[in-house]
Amino acid sequence: MKPKAPSRDSVTTINEDGSRYIVHPSDVSGRFALLRRLVGWLLIAVYVLLPWIPINGAPAVFLNVAERRFHLLGLTLVAQDLWLLFFCITGLGFTLFFTTALLGRIWCGWACPQTVFLDMVFRRVERLIDGDAPARRRLENAPWTPAKVFQRALKHGIFLACSLAVAHIFISYFVSLPKLYAMMHSAPAQNWGVFVFVMALSGILYFNFAWFREQFCIVMCPYGRLQSALVDDDTINVGYDERRGEPRGKPGSANAGDCIDCRRCVQVCPTGIDIRQGGLQLECIACTACIDACDQVMTRLHRPRGLVRYDSLSAFGGKKRRILRPRTVVYAVLMLIGGSVFSFAITKVKPVTFSILRMPGAPYYRDGEELRNNYFLRLINKRVETGAFEIEIVSSEPGLHIAGADANGRLTVAVPGNQEIQTPVVAQLPKSEFDGQFDIRMTVHDQTGSVLVSRTIPFLGPFRQGNTQRGAP
Ligand code: SF4
Ligand code: SF4
Repeated sequence: MKPKAPSRDSVTTINEDGSRYIVHPSDVSGRFALLRRLVGWLLIAVYVLLPWIPINGAPAVFLNVAERRFHLLGLTLVAQDLWLLFFCITGLGFTLFFTTALLGRIWCGWACPQTVFLDMVFRRVERLIDGDAPARRRLENAPWTPAKVFQRALKHGIFLACSLAVAHIFISYFVSLPKLYAMMHSAPAQNWGVFVFVMALSGILYFNFAWFREQFCIVMCPYGRLQSALVDDDTINVGYDERRGEPRGKPGSANAGDCIDCRRCVQVCPTGIDIRQGGLQLECIACTACIDACDQVMTRLHRPRGLVRYDSLSAFGGKKRRILRPRTVVYAVLMLIGGSVFSFAITKVKPVTFSILRMPGAPYYRDGEELRNNYFLRLINKRVETGAFEIEIVSSEPGLHIAGADANGRLTVAVPGNQEIQTPVVAQLPKSEFDGQFDIRMTVHDQTGSVLVSRTIPFLGPFRQGNTQRGAP
């Protein structure tokens, strides 16, 4: 069966009756294919290894949602630090805007997990089992023989195994590796929530990489829809030099341009489009396969490479290439603001998180000649090493002290690295000194005496005429 001819009036991969047209892109090699392969393998290695590489005693990336503790490249954040995410997401969002305005869909072609896993893993498995593009097309149209059943079962079995592996690696960002290992060796019913999630994710990945493929980029990806609003005629993208290539003709034909209409650029396109149909085509994921394909043809013809190349629509039209435009400047400024605020905010993250609550029960107790307020302290040590923290009450009330404090009025609490403790703290005040509710400030010091964090909480006692206290028993 002849491959379908691309048209700008329709999506190649969807037939007129709405059914799916499966594209079988031809193999391609060249400088971009090699570079993309290196980048792809590097990104896969990063994805696989991040949960294994320890930094400051925790995995490089470990999003411990169950304990609300997030380890990011040596930095430990707790739920209270998540406001930082706003600046992180803003910085990353504007970085993507800036990159798209400057370099088009470079993310899609080079770094998107959809493209990386599809091109570097699933298409490679398919190429190995089913052969090159003509062989795959023949197999698709062949009747179901035992050989075809075996070939399909083998391919889809490997696809399923790869999907399971990708899903398990994904879950290892949220569950520690020893815990994941233990889960994998226990009955699914013991961890049914995680089990169902991993199975569902594996199923989605399998469906996506085995069948849905480029449809995700064409009909589902929101970034793909957004890009037309982010780019302009000066954005660098993969394109065809019409002024040089047209009119098409056989090599040596009089007045013919450089395009010999060999259709190699179409055959290698994973989304089934013809880059020569011009403009910014929605389906183009900037995978550069057509650049390599055409460069090979040009090299064979002893013509300069670059008939299909990275360039702007303005440059293809013979105008000057402009890097600095209002949109690139605005996106760059917003990107730098987001990035700088995030970098600054990161330096302000405290190594300890501290919260204090009043203990359930009476608001205060009479203890001989003293009034007692009971609090409940929660301390999270975000460092790897055990921390000895000193708790102190700061107040101008004479005689106010922490029960069990040392001669300096401080209570020392040891918290193991990356752990939290919850401990009661009792504040006492001679009854004779109490003259109505007042606020006390509890501070946490490190061993050098520096104040790390502090919180304010009221000290309550019996109601007296003229004071503002409520609810004393
Ligand atoms: S590969 Fe190059 S020469 Fe061949 S059809 Fe495409 S643009 Fe023309
Ligand atoms: S037109 Fe070229 S760059 Fe775009 S998806 Fe097809 S092969 Fe990749």
